[in-house]
Amino acid sequence: MKQIIRNVRLRGREGSFDVAVDGDRIAAVEPEIADSADREHDGGGGLLVPGLVNAHQHLDKCMLGDVMRQNESQTLQEAIEITWDHKRSYTVEEIADRAAPVVEAAIVNGTTAIRGFADVDTVGGLVPVQGLLELKRRFEGMITFEVVAFPQEAIIRDPGCDKLMEEAMDLGCDVVGGLPWYERLDRHVEEHIDFCFDLAKRTGRDVHMLADDTDDPYSRSLEYLAVRTIEEGYQGRVSASHCGALAAYDDNHAARVIGYVRDAGISIMSNTQISLVLDGRGDRGLVRRGITRVRELLDAGVNVLSAQDDVNDPYYPFGKPDQIEVGQYTAHVAQLTYLPELETVFDMITYNAARAMRLDGYGVEPGDRADLVVIDAPTVREALRLVPPRRLVFYGGRLMAESRLESTLHTGAEVSGG
Ligand SMILES: [Zn+2]
Repeated sequence: MKQIIRNVRLRGREGSFDVAVDGDRIAAVEPEIADSADREHDGGGGLLVPGLVNAHQHLDKCMLGDVMRQNESQTLQEAIEITWDHKRSYTVEEIADRAAPVVEAAIVNGTTAIRGFADVDTVGGLVPVQGLLELKRRFEGMITFEVVAFPQEAIIRDPGCDKLMEEAMDLGCDVVGGLPWYERLDRHVEEHIDFCFDLAKRTGRDVHMLADDTDDPYSRSLEYLAVRTIEEGYQGRVSASHCGALAAYDDNHAARVIGYVRDAGISIMSNTQISLVLDGRGDRGLVRRGITRVRELLDAGVNVLSAQDDVNDPYYPFGKPDQIEVGQYTAHVAQLTYLPELETVFDMITYNAARAMRLDGYGVEPGDRADLVVIDAPTVREALRLVPPRRLVFYGGRLMAESRLESTLHTGAEVSGG
């Protein structure tokens, strides 16, 4: 089927454009396309960008906020413990049913690729993995969906997890996850990372770890991960989320680690909203914000992105999930507010995130995949300012969602005149 999306704006280009889509690919991008098509869409002068990419989302835990006991201490540790209560009674269907509306909301908000983390541990066994694989089946053809086998209780400190991780990959997980900083000893941190690389190499999969998600400046998993990435020849295939301790290191050590990260081609993910509410809780006086060194990483040439992480669960009570909202938070907290920096922030939820997930044919040029979003705003700045509805969302050329904001302002004149 041939389609034309008319009257859209593009980043970095003046004027309005028409975009032709043939099947699942972009066929043409022109100021005006004279031909007609099987189906035409009015872009309404909105900004057309490739689909938003959310490369870190705990879909097995989302919406537990509605049923869980409260996180009294508001700490990461209590969030982990609250999750245990639910994990023991998870079923595959329950997880898929609970997460499905969150994936639907992500699609309505323009997400065309998502990386879902599934806990793998001796508390919940492989049920979260099976739940997310079931969810992936339900959304086939609607969104690019990856499942990460994620050892939420760490590996060495959770005897039996190693076997479960192997089984999780056999069941069909796409990415080997890791949580090395959560081990008890430094040598276990290294063993954890070595185990994950071994598993990734045996299964031919990429690696995505949550590194140093703590204010503790002695948490040093990211540097070991970076050095091992280089040793294993895994450059460009490893992502690390959170990396809060990097912000707590002294500047000299931080610069050294950033250098390793750049050389290793590791993508760094700031999970801004979650770090903001969970980290720096023990601080007196100046409260740290727990965000990794976003600006310094960008300046060093590291691929930096931002992802939602949590939606209404023991870790975080909010989350729509909306990647433009995620970007808006990152802009605030990383103080990226100069106009060219807003473009960088937008790259963090699109191109940089696509690079971390190694998505093929990502972009808005002819030949690229028609995973596209039209945002009801003409520019990146307006998109980040207003977080407006996603007018049109396409996945592989298939129209997945349409949204309009309908508001009526009743002015005084209208009221008194009525
Ligand atoms: Zn996370």
